[in-house]
Amino acid sequence: MMKIILSLITVLTLAMSGCTGPGNFFDEDKPVEEPYVFDLTLEDMWNDIPINQTSTSDILNWTYEFSKSPRVTNLTEIGYSMNGQPLLLVEFGDYDPNIPTVYFVAAQHGNEPASVDSAYLLARHFARGVPEEVDPILEKINLAVFVMVNPDGRDAGSRGNANGTDLNRDHMKLLEPEGIIMQKAFQKIHPSVTVDMHEFGGAGTIIFQVAAPQNPTTHPDVLAASYVLETDVIEAVNEEWGFGSVTNYPPTTSSQDSSIHRNHFAVHGSVSLLFESAVSEEYSERVRLQSWAAIAVIDEVVDDPGYYLDARQSSDEEGQEGNDIVHAYLFECNDPATKETLRILKDHGFKVGYKSGDESVTSIHYETFLPMTNFPNGTALVPMDQIGWRMISELMEYTSTKDQHYTNSPKDRGQDAWRALESVNYEIDNDVCKIE
Ligand SMILES: [Zn+2]
Repeated sequence: MMKIILSLITVLTLAMSGCTGPGNFFDEDKPVEEPYVFDLTLEDMWNDIPINQTSTSDILNWTYEFSKSPRVTNLTEIGYSMNGQPLLLVEFGDYDPNIPTVYFVAAQHGNEPASVDSAYLLARHFARGVPEEVDPILEKINLAVFVMVNPDGRDAGSRGNANGTDLNRDHMKLLEPEGIIMQKAFQKIHPSVTVDMHEFGGAGTIIFQVAAPQNPTTHPDVLAASYVLETDVIEAVNEEWGFGSVTNYPPTTSSQDSSIHRNHFAVHGSVSLLFESAVSEEYSERVRLQSWAAIAVIDEVVDDPGYYLDARQSSDEEGQEGNDIVHAYLFECNDPATKETLRILKDHGFKVGYKSGDESVTSIHYETFLPMTNFPNGTALVPMDQIGWRMISELMEYTSTKDQHYTNSPKDRGQDAWRALESVNYEIDNDVCKIE
């Protein structure tokens, strides 16, 4: 109100003094659109690495600022943590399907905090960086940064979320809000390359670890490209910190586990890596290690974007019409475990439906391989001719014998399911089995 009154007085004063033409009366009140200033260089990113961990609220407030950058195509509260804190996704690029998308996810484990500062600085660099450094990169790739996936854990200094759950063991079951949101973000972004950022205790001269996916269900092209990218990161860190500063994550009994991010999203079709900087190092050095490795990934994908795009496409296209190994999984609506199986499949982004028609279908039990040919109408079904069919297989066949971690297979819930060995007539209906 004050501003309007002052303006009126100004206008009247100017009108009475006769110094101004009528065209200027209204222009004066228009807010001046300042052009966005791209003011930072990559050098600024290294110089601005914090000495200590940045608070959760500062990271959130500073990340919201990126919405002002014309380069940021989306700054989304893609979901909320258990304690209701926003989960922020920063996206650069228009998702041109002819260029790959590189996607970083920071600190599923709240007590491994350095990657959040790295992810924030990375997003800041792309939001504000000088055009000569940033534009050539964003011509070759789309970029997405999930700056802080576990804010409640960061506040508490705990590995798990506010529920005490290890989010990096939730990717099969999807029982936690942050787990469901990571799945949702992945589906939205459809990345060719995914990097999951962590920290570890450190081991002698080794201050950084990197790992490629190890689940055997992963498409071979995705695996191969992950190894190429992993090698590139190892070389980049060795060059800066000296030989023996970086190693592969050691194989463990859980290293194939699909409830772990790098395995899960590789099975979903993305080239995938795990990063770990050593908590034995100074905090700023841990941030620098993660940022250095992140830039190495971006540089490599920019050098050969088609290779990473092709890997993702090979995985997506396998199982499409005409290339089906398995045509569908079928299971009975009256099986007590069906409700949870359908919930998990739908939360992973898959369409479900029911078998239509009276024709018999040659099928085998997914585990005992006992045959079945006749299914009554109303049998629930997940068709295989959709993107991510390897993930459907993994969800349906994942068993407790594979690893020591979390299980989700129909078997573990006492459910019977069959793989159809020929095409099945079906109708997509996400409400299948709810009518009974
Ligand atoms: Zn971790």
